[in-house]
Amino acid sequence: MDRHVSTSQGLINYNLTRKNIKNMNMRIGRDGIISVSCPLAVPLASVDEFVSLRADWVIASMEKIKTQNIAREKLAANCFNYDDGDILYYLGVKYQLAVVKKSRASVVLSAEQLIVATTDLSDKIKIKKQINKWYARQASAVISSAFDSMAVKHAEKFGENFVLRLRNTKSRWGSCIPKLRTIMLCKRLICYSTDCIEYVALHELAHILVGDHSEKFYQVLSTVSPDYKDKRALLSDAEIRAFVNVLFA
Ligand SMILES: [Zn+2]
Repeated sequence: MDRHVSTSQGLINYNLTRKNIKNMNMRIGRDGIISVSCPLAVPLASVDEFVSLRADWVIASMEKIKTQNIAREKLAANCFNYDDGDILYYLGVKYQLAVVKKSRASVVLSAEQLIVATTDLSDKIKIKKQINKWYARQASAVISSAFDSMAVKHAEKFGENFVLRLRNTKSRWGSCIPKLRTIMLCKRLICYSTDCIEYVALHELAHILVGDHSEKFYQVLSTVSPDYKDKRALLSDAEIRAFVNVLFA
């Protein structure tokens, strides 16, 4: 139940839930929404008073959340600048970029770092090219093989012989032209976990049988990917998305 109470700090809106509990408690979410839970029989006036007495704390916490959210947004916006020490994502895992000087250029992924060896540390354009090229190569190899393994696994359902295209698309993870058995997958998926890549592959394969996003489509999808909702949710990771937007800009 949505309620508001007038306090020394102004009007406070909160969401009230009655539960089989002993004491009232209040928490503020990352989104700034105030939730109060109270025992079943407590009168509303007492709940309002409970909130009102904590008005100072509420206002201070809201300020703190606001600052944290601004910091988070800033971090997401400036996350990647092709500099030594920057954070990057590959197959859903966080790595640190290490740029080192060597007589021969190379890019190697270690357990915790993407190590870019370059002949001239000041040549940022070249470093950028090396990294982008590495990601492009990984994308072709890894996404294609993830798609192939899904297609082979479910060949009985979707048939064989697909044309797979990889594209750097901004607003879609994949597409399917059932008539031509042509499936497009977005190269940006290389920054997300294999689960995500497989989910998108299966989603597009399901379109071979059902073109739209009807209930029938999701029935087909759940038979090959019962936990598709969890996998799909991973695609909305804000930090990975911010990185991807820089890398594939
Ligand atoms: Zn779709």
